[in-house]
Amino acid sequence: MKVPLLDVRRQNLPIEVDLLSAFRRVLESGQFILGREVEQFERDAAEVAGTHYAIGVSSGTDAILLALMALDIGAGDEVICPSFTFFATAGCVARVGARPVFVDSQSESFNIDPVSIESAITPRTKAIIPVHLFGQPADMEEIMAIARRRGLFVIEDVAQAFGASYAGRPAGSFGEFGTVSFFPSKNLGALGDGGLLTTNDPELAEKAARLRNHGANPKYYHSMIGGNFRLDAVQAALLGVKLPYLAEYTAGRQEHLSEYNRALAKVRGGEAVELILPSVLPGRTHIANQYTLRVRAAKGWNSAESPRDALRRFLAERDIAAEIYYPVPLHKQECFQAFGPYGELPAAEAMAREVISLPVFPEMTEEEQAAVTQAVVEFCEGGRP
Ligand SMILES: *Cc1c(COP(=O)(O)O)cnc(C)c1O
Repeated sequence: MKVPLLDVRRQNLPIEVDLLSAFRRVLESGQFILGREVEQFERDAAEVAGTHYAIGVSSGTDAILLALMALDIGAGDEVICPSFTFFATAGCVARVGARPVFVDSQSESFNIDPVSIESAITPRTKAIIPVHLFGQPADMEEIMAIARRRGLFVIEDVAQAFGASYAGRPAGSFGEFGTVSFFPSKNLGALGDGGLLTTNDPELAEKAARLRNHGANPKYYHSMIGGNFRLDAVQAALLGVKLPYLAEYTAGRQEHLSEYNRALAKVRGGEAVELILPSVLPGRTHIANQYTLRVRAAKGWNSAESPRDALRRFLAERDIAAEIYYPVPLHKQECFQAFGPYGELPAAEAMAREVISLPVFPEMTEEEQAAVTQAVVEFCEGGRP
């Protein structure tokens, strides 16, 4: 059975009628840039985000960039972020002229390690960017305590965790800013690019909204230099159709996560490979944007290929898609070497070698999931290529 990593058509086609009528509404209005559709979506999305303000932006990446710009972070500043994350988190730091300072992550959660944050702080540190990776919130209580004690800003990268919560509060509502992505593979996916910047601070909200539109206020009068980071009215209208289904989409992913953990628990500790399944830590909801497990060599492993790469190849031969998020930690990326030197980050490096993400999209069928788990079990039980 062929199992894709993601099939957005299964999510979008059942609501085709509503998507088309939202599109028609925008078409007939002729209002494509900002305006009512964007404002309405911002109000609805702020409720899910649990923040007073939500600003529709062009992508999750631009949300991070805008947050850094609104906090006046630039040349001479340092921003602490995890090494084990998607490129955009740190790419934006470098783009505003600041230095990304990479720290290690925790093995249990894949998230930034608060202890490593503390030891990376220097007089130049301005902000911390925790990433709620794969859909599970980072240790926000510890991170906020460090930030408050040391006078640092916090920008939460909520790209993979829109709708997740920590201690009963939405991820993204703790720091100065939360940055959300509506890239089609995220829990709430647009039909193109889109993002959201959230905050509880009225002055930061006003400044970010202005920077989103070239820093102008009023039109053609610029007291600050911004850019074009606007969410399209068409995407806002389409996202407005999908937003009410977010909880349902997430529940589907969470069921798949539980089922994988249940079905794969029995193969843990095989002779040649060891599987480390993702854990859901207490006091938080994991929205399962990715189902990422770790594959390690055990005593009986006797191949030059890593067991993770072997599993990926084994799955591919059975037409089962899987992906490596992420194969190279950011402190090892060529483009960041000019900001170094960076020391070793053993947890992040081990994750990059061992992780593999299996299909977990909400519309995946029971049969498809069974095919994936069966293939993983077969691999572990010795049917390796
Ligand atoms: C997807 C993602 C982004 C970037 O979002 P885009 O909308 O694709 O620009 C940033 N950070 C993380 C952790 C992501 O997963």
